[in-house]
Amino acid sequence: MYNLDMKPLSRRMLNLGTENAFSVIGKAKKFEEEVLKPQGKYLIYLQIGEPGFNTPENINEAAIRAIKDNKTHYTPTPGIRELREAVAQKTKKQTGVEYSPENVVVTSGGKSIIFYTINALIDPDDEVIIPNPAYPIYGSVTKYLGGKVIPIELKEENGFDLNVKELEKSITKKTKLIVINSPQNPTGGVFTEESLQKVAELAKKHDLWVLSDEIYSEMVHQGENSEKHFSITSVPGMAERTVILNGCSKTYAMTGYRIGWGVTKNTEMARALETLACNDTSCPTAIAQYAAIEALTGSQNPPVIMLAEYRKRRDLIVKLINNVPGMKCGSPKGAFYLMANVRGLLEKLGITTEELCDRIMREANVLILPGPVFGDFAENFVRFSYVANEENIIEGISRIKRFVDSLNFEKDLISENENAPITATLNQL
Ligand code: PMP
Repeated sequence: MYNLDMKPLSRRMLNLGTENAFSVIGKAKKFEEEVLKPQGKYLIYLQIGEPGFNTPENINEAAIRAIKDNKTHYTPTPGIRELREAVAQKTKKQTGVEYSPENVVVTSGGKSIIFYTINALIDPDDEVIIPNPAYPIYGSVTKYLGGKVIPIELKEENGFDLNVKELEKSITKKTKLIVINSPQNPTGGVFTEESLQKVAELAKKHDLWVLSDEIYSEMVHQGENSEKHFSITSVPGMAERTVILNGCSKTYAMTGYRIGWGVTKNTEMARALETLACNDTSCPTAIAQYAAIEALTGSQNPPVIMLAEYRKRRDLIVKLINNVPGMKCGSPKGAFYLMANVRGLLEKLGITTEELCDRIMREANVLILPGPVFGDFAENFVRFSYVANEENIIEGISRIKRFVDSLNFEKDLISENENAPITATLNQL
């Protein structure tokens, strides 16, 4: 027998969280395989955090070409120069800032930039301001390093925009970093230019760093009252104290290629990101980098077509959700997520959001994510993504409505539009 009473893992590991969305899907797949499949049933997945489209053909072909041309060796740590040049150009177009390849570090997915930037900045007891609900990795990495997370509530009634006054009140001598994510996961909110201008002024006044996660920057829905994506680095003096996170995953439906990047005009930070990347992966996958060059320099039609389709799906799902008694949501301006308020249902059932999502999975056979996966300020919410096609959106929300109807709350739970049919099609919207 081996002696399993071994020395423990590092203390740091106790504070490292994870992305619970991945464990939820593991549990759901097991349930579908073991319980539903034998009955000829299946789950509808309305929780997915990745594009509902295949990678465009020209990009896949560039990857195949790279293999055939034997471009299968190590590359420079921060990425192939041609790709860094393309990223610099694209970022310049988005921000108006004169970026060069030296300001770019390409990584194995944008997520690495969260890990590297927070590692480069945070010592024990340093404070990081993170609007909440939030993508969980910012807080997880901060705590892992002994830092303190200071959450700022994003309120439903403000369209999940930043409350800058509250942010200002949260700044202390220990504050070192503000995390901005717009368009936002999980709310789909887009921070206004006015809010970001004010955040920029605060960052400069208090000498704070900013991590600006702009991975959904090209997913802002155009139309009436829509916001435009605004990068905080467009404010003079911010590019030097900001790391922009972006990448190919969402815009070009390339999640599995694992190509993201950090962009900063701060030379010391760029060097730190590169050193961390060298300690971690040496360089991103060569083949994927060639695919990324094609993504950035080839036809830019696919992202536009995908965005138009997401908008249709958003309009459909928003209408359907608001017909479910006890659920309500606004129309988010960006990304492909929305948070639905389910307080009415929780109160009626006397259960937690996690329990509600579990019941919706087991009884309605639809997978959605409980708000608390994204932090304390999301307790009364569930997150839907609308990357699924129209048929699955209609079927998924119909199943949830049937589940809620079967609970027989009758008139206690009033939907936004009680008499509207659940079988709306795109043509009706
Ligand atoms: N930031 C946010 C807000 C995200 O939602 C994601 C992916 N879900 C990432 C960063 C990371 O993306 P990737 O590593 O695939 O580039």
